[in-house]
Amino acid sequence: MINIPKGLKDVLPNESYKWEKVMKVVYDLAKLYNIKEIRTPIFEHTELFLRGVGDSTDIVNKEMYTFLDKGGRSITLRPEGTAGVVRSFIENSLFNEALPLKMFYVLPNFRYEKPQAGRYRQHTQFGVEVYGADTPESDAETIMIGYEFYKKFGIKPQVHINNLGCSICKNNYVEALKTYFEPKLSQMCEDCKRRYKTNPLRLLDCKEENCKLHVENAPKMADYLCEDCKTRFVKLQEILTALNIDYIINPILVRGLDYYSNTVFEFYDADKTKGLNALGGGGRYNNLVEELGGKATPVVGFGIGIERLLLYLESKNINIENENKVEVYVANITNDTIKIMEIVKNLRDNGISCEMNLSGRSLKAQFKYADKINAKFVITVGEDELTSGMFNIKDMFKGTQGSIPENKIVEYILENRN
Ligand code: AMP
Repeated sequence: MINIPKGLKDVLPNESYKWEKVMKVVYDLAKLYNIKEIRTPIFEHTELFLRGVGDSTDIVNKEMYTFLDKGGRSITLRPEGTAGVVRSFIENSLFNEALPLKMFYVLPNFRYEKPQAGRYRQHTQFGVEVYGADTPESDAETIMIGYEFYKKFGIKPQVHINNLGCSICKNNYVEALKTYFEPKLSQMCEDCKRRYKTNPLRLLDCKEENCKLHVENAPKMADYLCEDCKTRFVKLQEILTALNIDYIINPILVRGLDYYSNTVFEFYDADKTKGLNALGGGGRYNNLVEELGGKATPVVGFGIGIERLLLYLESKNINIENENKVEVYVANITNDTIKIMEIVKNLRDNGISCEMNLSGRSLKAQFKYADKINAKFVITVGEDELTSGMFNIKDMFKGTQGSIPENKIVEYILENRN
């Protein structure tokens, strides 16, 4: 037997309805917020991610699935959604569309990470990216989309927000961080020593207990924000408060990717924030389009992990209702299978989901099967029924049964389906 590669997971038929629900929630939100879907390819030129995600990140350094294709080109499986969308925005001149342009995707990412609960080598993100708006209102609206998404699944989300500043205040802050951490580096982990050189902001993000001790007293970004960034951060908070979005300011929130500046945020569950990985997160990246060769365009966006959402719902015993129900099983005790297929077709033509005996089973086995697939009604059709035109119908949930004329079946089911 050939097994699934390490760190991957199948979505099995008995759980795929959850993904259907996720897509329904996404499409419903997209309509309400006027967000259009974008689908970029699963692989891109490696250079896109080197430049777009940043070569100081763990993703680029350790986690990319990179290979040479048969033409000798370096190809990388998408490790995150944003870089591909930026590439497409530039390449397809989407800046000529009505801006702001809001886009979403639900696409798989590939990262060679150490597999553990909630961390896979292929995971799917619902991402939203808003191009061409640089206001606290667009930050707030983007946060709101993610917030509403979680609420639809019965989660009480809490948003952590921070502001990393514009390029000027961010640089001042980074210098302050370097001054603070330099004398402490010898007591910190190897990753932090590397981060000090490549991306000092990420020193705030270290999960090692020893390093966290130093983070507590580190300079706070809020003290380094310029007036413009401060005003913007305050406005964002005012909007979130007015819209009843549960948020807290998290001064050490920096996010894992290099491209963020200004607003950053992460989604947690309000009931169990401590020690839990973020359910999703995002922020603003106003320089990325230009860095990848396009006309400077501000962008704000987020990525929400779907596998992590589903795992989290399971851990909290929050069910997603399976709305896909087989309403009718048509059992046959006649050889006139064409007649049975006609009956089934007529039910389906009327929007009634049904199933029939496709494997030549006995009547008893057919009832057992109908029970297993949770069919609400079983209609039994034999020679007598075909002659009289009266069919036996059993409500499997209530245990009641009766007889109805063939031409009343559809009407009966439609009236009694709930
Ligand atoms: P990131 O792109 O790293 O900011 O991740 C955004 C969200 O994607 C996270 O909050 C998770 O929900 C999800 N995610 C990231 N990496 C993984 C992974 N390896 N396995 C499952 N979900 C992931």
